[in-house]
Amino acid sequence: MLSFLRSDLAQLMSYTPHPGGADSADPNRKIDRLDTNESPYDLPEDLKEKLAGIYQNLIETNRYPDGAHVALKEAIATYVNEGIKDANSQSLIKANQISIGNGSDELIRALLIATCLQDEGSILVAEPTFSMYAILAKTLGISVTKIPRSPVDFSMDIAAANAAIQQDLEPLIRAIFVVHPNSPTGNALTPAELEWLRTIPHDMLVVIDEAYYEFSQQTVVGELYKRPNWLVLRTFSKAFRLASLRVGYAIGHPDAIAALEKIRLPYNLPSFSQAAAELTLANRHKLLTVIPEIITERNKLIKALANHPTLKIWPSDSNFIYARLKDDNQSEKDLNQIMYDLKVKGTLVRHTGGGLRITVGTPEENQRTLERLQEISN
Ligand SMILES: *Cc1c(COP(=O)(O)O)cnc(C)c1O
Repeated sequence: MLSFLRSDLAQLMSYTPHPGGADSADPNRKIDRLDTNESPYDLPEDLKEKLAGIYQNLIETNRYPDGAHVALKEAIATYVNEGIKDANSQSLIKANQISIGNGSDELIRALLIATCLQDEGSILVAEPTFSMYAILAKTLGISVTKIPRSPVDFSMDIAAANAAIQQDLEPLIRAIFVVHPNSPTGNALTPAELEWLRTIPHDMLVVIDEAYYEFSQQTVVGELYKRPNWLVLRTFSKAFRLASLRVGYAIGHPDAIAALEKIRLPYNLPSFSQAAAELTLANRHKLLTVIPEIITERNKLIKALANHPTLKIWPSDSNFIYARLKDDNQSEKDLNQIMYDLKVKGTLVRHTGGGLRITVGTPEENQRTLERLQEISN
């Protein structure tokens, strides 16, 4: 290790997007990429053409992008507010309650910097969950307390969480990260979990990551006005089909948002990405029409796998399903073998959190997923 590097970096590994390995051997072979929870559908041709037209005619590549994201914030606020049930004048989100990141990953890092850096705090997560919270925390030297989930329904062990919060940890827990619905397990926050989050003292940030909101249709945005220590994350990488362009946003108290705006890089979002996000929002009704199909396909997958000889499947509020081995003596090695066998057959899935996470793809991809899982069990 080079001696000018921080000593703790030696223990970290760089992020591998496809731990199962994206198949590079044969570029012509069609692979079902069901390991990263993207939409199976690219932008429709007409929207791509429009975006190309914007690039050609409106974007000056020699000029910096709009560093304040003015138009996009307004469009996001309108979209977010459509999803608030029984909205009132207080609960409606304004542009000063939104910060936009180069993917929500960037916002997660900004939140860690804003709350915990310089030994001012640590974070709490309930495993298994989205890996980026702990990964990014460690790159900043921030410690992570992990509490377990029920092996039955993946609800959080709230007693363990309370015990961790009340411990005299040094430094104290400053932020809790939850996903709603959780990845990789697919379950939305339960009423009891939400009730618990409402009791969290206001000197602790509660981050509720709604990356899969468009699939779950469940959101806490409507109660943000009552909860200054809550912050919601969303992304364009999933239902909005823009994973390649890296746009995520945070919704929260104006003062928390102001802190994120101080921390982010001034021109964090390329003009092209801003234009694409605005275009997809303007065409959201068209783009989101495939959501019911994905949910129907998800339910079909779950039903078809219910009688699988070796895999146990859980319900899902999202665009992916989660499976573990029925055998209690399941080993990570066996799961790895299934992941590898699927890969050889042409389907990439994610082995994480003691199980397999499989993205719902096109109907054809899902059919192949079922066939291949059936073959493997034989
Ligand atoms: C996919 C995902 C994101 C999105 O990250 P981006 O950086 O916006 O692509 C955030 N949180 C969770 C839990 C996710 O699964």
